[in-house]
Amino acid sequence: MTHTVTEHFSEQLSLRARALLHGLGAEVPAPGTLLARTPISGGVLLPLTPDTPADVDAAIGRAATAFESWRTVPAPVRAALVRRLAALLVAHQDELAELVTLEAGKIGAEALGEVQEMIDVCEFAIGLSRQLYGATMPSERPGHRLMETWHPLGVVGVISAFNFPVAVWAWNTAIALVCGDTVVWKPSETTPLTALACHTLLRRAAREVGADPQVHQLVQGDATVGEALVDDPRVALLSATGSVRMGGIVAPRVAARFGRCLLELGGNNAAIVAPSADLELAVRGIVFAAAGTAGQRCTTLRRLIAHRSIADQLVERLSAAYSQLPVGNPLDDGVLVGPLVDERAYTAMRTALVRANDEGGEIVCGGERVELIGAEAYYVRPALVRMPAQTELVREETFAPILYVLTYDDLDEAIALNNGVTQGLSSSIFTLDQREAEQFIAGSDCGIANVNIGTSGAEIGGAFGGEKNTGGGRESGSDSWKAYMRRATNTINYSTELPLAQGIHFG
Ligand code: NAD
Repeated sequence: MTHTVTEHFSEQLSLRARALLHGLGAEVPAPGTLLARTPISGGVLLPLTPDTPADVDAAIGRAATAFESWRTVPAPVRAALVRRLAALLVAHQDELAELVTLEAGKIGAEALGEVQEMIDVCEFAIGLSRQLYGATMPSERPGHRLMETWHPLGVVGVISAFNFPVAVWAWNTAIALVCGDTVVWKPSETTPLTALACHTLLRRAAREVGADPQVHQLVQGDATVGEALVDDPRVALLSATGSVRMGGIVAPRVAARFGRCLLELGGNNAAIVAPSADLELAVRGIVFAAAGTAGQRCTTLRRLIAHRSIADQLVERLSAAYSQLPVGNPLDDGVLVGPLVDERAYTAMRTALVRANDEGGEIVCGGERVELIGAEAYYVRPALVRMPAQTELVREETFAPILYVLTYDDLDEAIALNNGVTQGLSSSIFTLDQREAEQFIAGSDCGIANVNIGTSGAEIGGAFGGEKNTGGGRESGSDSWKAYMRRATNTINYSTELPLAQGIHFG
């Protein structure tokens, strides 16, 4: 596209974004220095005004005040708000998904899937509202009962990344709200419009069910806005999703004020392909996990650890599949790989490929830029790179579609390679040998260890998160809700005596 044609296209995308916001009921905000861009063309969708530290302070104050009454609403009644939000998400699924495509560059199917994930987690949270169970334990003292009760925590700060602009918010918010917490959300500065849309839908849901709309606050801007949440003692839990670099700054600051952190940080995910693997299935799983979302998922497959006996054959098949991948405008039907988020992501990818070459790697295919929609949009062909060893480069997360291929001879070695990185998010094995599968599940040090599927595409029913530098947090399903509540242990004496524990006699 020529310059002016691209500009005209960007204007159309901007008009579309405004129309979608309007359809979602969001007011177009006052223009300012926070630029919402689209990776589709690199153009500006809308300029917004970022929040100041004083705005963040006021938002936390409103959330803290709202918490005082929200915490007393019974959990199944609180669920009415989440139920209404889910209904609004169903009604506006297409519009919100299109906005995700415009702002984050996801292809239509993945954007719709992201909104579906929001609906799913709302349904989970609604059921959960009647299952915030505490345990009871036998007391060692006669006439006594020992039990645990769970109570709302307070204000939950949510900092989210650009690549799941709406689902991660929903994971946190749906659960936090039924748990009786209030939420202050700082989305990525790269995706402020989808955040505005979600905030608008939640506020509308609150008004429609008679809940206090102040239970949710949105603050927009860059890291400085996030830091205001990090340092505020009124924020009981800070749930932060993003890079390991960000977690390394945020975690010690929250710990210094004895706050709680829930960290969902970067991954460097591997899949082992054993000699017994169904290669046809493995190729499909690997291509989706490595090239889907243009390699911009925290769970993207970045390292392939193939048994030496099948490695050549696997690489050949993958190379053939990669050459068929349609790269292009994510709004177009049939496209499977959309753009990188911005120039920085492209530069990181190029730098990594040059380093791979310097470290003795062989670029089997991909890695080149495809200039489709002007100079400011960054489309690339996913890259497949054979590496002689797990070098320093391979141990880093480059947030782009590069799949490094390593080989192994025995499974212990493969599991050691899987674990030989600082991150610990997702992992998988392709094998038809149950012994190998079980050995892998027991041996992988990651928060997610899959068998015969790739590393990405988690369901909301499970607890999601990773170990080591990925931060140790768990969100979404299973018992992740416990992170959003505080536990009290209660000893109740219904006798007329006052026996002490451990048989102690006092006086
Ligand atoms: P990023 O770390 O640059 O930014 C994430 C968020 O943190 C943004 O909202 C940003 O404004 C904020 N932030 C950055 N520095 C901060 C600071 N000092 N104080 C407070 N807030 C700060 O990440 P990104 O580029 O948006 O996203 C990509 C990264 O996120 C990748 O590493 C990816 O693996 C990771 N990620 C992890 C998960 C997960 O669940 N584990 C999910 C999505 C993305």
